[in-house]
Amino acid sequence: VLSTMQDVPLLISRILTHGSTIHGTSQVTTWTGESEPHRRSFAEVGARAAQLAHALRDDLGVTDDDRVATLAWNNAEHVEAYFAIPSMGAILHTLNLRLPAEQLVWIVNHAADRVVIANGSLLPLLAPLLPHLKTVEHVVVTGPGDRSLLEGSHARVHEYEELLAGKPTTYDWPELDERQAAAMCYTSGTTGDPKGVVYSHRSIYLHSMQVNMAQSMGLTDQDTSLVVVPQFHVNAWGLPHATFMTGVNLLMPDRFLQPAPLAEMIEREKPTHAAAVPTIWQGLLAELTAKPRDVSSLGQVTIGGSACPPSLMEAFDKLGMRVCHAWGMTETSPLGTIARPPAHVVGTDAEFAYRLTQGRFPAGVEARLTGPGGERLPWDGESAGELEVRGTWIAGAYYNGPDAEPLRPADKFSEDGWLKTGDVGTISPDGFLTLTDRAKDVIKSGGEWISSVELENALMSHPDVAEAAVVAVPDEKWGERPLATVVLKEGSTATFETLRAFLADEGHIAKWQLPERWTVIESVPKTSVGKFDKKVIRKQYAEGTLD
Ligand code: ADP
Repeated sequence: VLSTMQDVPLLISRILTHGSTIHGTSQVTTWTGESEPHRRSFAEVGARAAQLAHALRDDLGVTDDDRVATLAWNNAEHVEAYFAIPSMGAILHTLNLRLPAEQLVWIVNHAADRVVIANGSLLPLLAPLLPHLKTVEHVVVTGPGDRSLLEGSHARVHEYEELLAGKPTTYDWPELDERQAAAMCYTSGTTGDPKGVVYSHRSIYLHSMQVNMAQSMGLTDQDTSLVVVPQFHVNAWGLPHATFMTGVNLLMPDRFLQPAPLAEMIEREKPTHAAAVPTIWQGLLAELTAKPRDVSSLGQVTIGGSACPPSLMEAFDKLGMRVCHAWGMTETSPLGTIARPPAHVVGTDAEFAYRLTQGRFPAGVEARLTGPGGERLPWDGESAGELEVRGTWIAGAYYNGPDAEPLRPADKFSEDGWLKTGDVGTISPDGFLTLTDRAKDVIKSGGEWISSVELENALMSHPDVAEAAVVAVPDEKWGERPLATVVLKEGSTATFETLRAFLADEGHIAKWQLPERWTVIESVPKTSVGKFDKKVIRKQYAEGTLD
């Protein structure tokens, strides 16, 4: 029997229309590095998104299924592109501006992007790539920057503001199929070529509703969210879409992602929420220790992308910035779990341990653990296996060109269609995920597994340690053993012996897991999205260039 309910497609244009009318006075504030940030209301963003869609269609000839890329920081124009491109029926492709040049070229060519909307400040990055971007017919430039860098290019260069000027401020958004492609994002290709994940209107809509639930980020129009996580890193974890559903104000840092301007932004604009990977917050913590500021507005900080070190959570708690740990990946839109402790532990000593887990699965994400032999493991909080997930905002395949069958590599998707995350961990009977490692980072020592994350967390809780990354290195006797690379704080007197003793005594690390190889390094190499780049450390160790 069919239901009697209306069948209204879940479209991004509906999120835009809702946000720009019902929450029309909410604001997108963009940091400019000047005395005043730039402010634009959701109503203005909605009007300008309509103008952009007219310009893309009428002046640039963008039609259905065309890929329109952005090479941009987090700012109001990027939010306009986020809404205009999918709402008109085209596909938004966010480019990770920190990827190596060859990878960016590969990705743009693979996606066959027709248009690139670029921030003027990023033209020095774009200009040398452009001759290799064969499918790109138009470049649209926003904000200040040296346009002469693009002279002689095969692509036509447009000014964003000139394109928008005089265009109608409303657009008759098409009624699309909600399963149609809305946005795409490539994984950073740590192994092999990058892989394209294509989100649908429906998946983004449902994911946004999940982000907004009280047990998720739970923000309202009384909040302002400082979105440090880049818009090119899995749709800024869904925040631009989610905030237009609920009227949460956005504070966008543009290119000012260093600890000092971030601290200034927090003090002056008083955001109530912020989201970023741990390395950003480690930097901010060092800044706040050196130069204390009033950050008391920041009641909730979402940390994900890699494991949140307990020491960071503790330090933020002390500053009144309550950390909420979350897990996800490009393939999961990204929100997969979020660590809101269950009611019965709130206010007890058990609460902190729950907050340190990767969190609970929300309705809409199903999970299972698979052991090395393919067996299903119980949710007993002890059996560790590879996490597999399934759900309406989880990828079921990778992009393989507009006319080709999507790719379903066997190491990424099970035969029955679940996503194999490559993350290893346990699930408690009440549904809390604890990741011990990425499958490729686990240290396999004499048939036993050592968690690199556990060693890192223990090391980073030492007062003299600024950062620590632990990787597996080959060992004749054991197969692999851990190598600890440590960044010491200035003036530190710690030695490898004292750190090793600290791991055993304070960190409660079993003796056989203690590293015997140690190196002091100046900083931990980071990936394009600010995570520890263990591939680089392993390579440097193999080449003997690690110091
Ligand atoms: P990349 O593979 O380039 O890092 P993603 O941002 O998609 O791209 O990374 C997803 C991976 O990041 C996850 O599979 C997991 O290994 C790691 N990750 C994300 N959040 C957490 C977290 N809270 N704790 C531990 N690992 C995390």
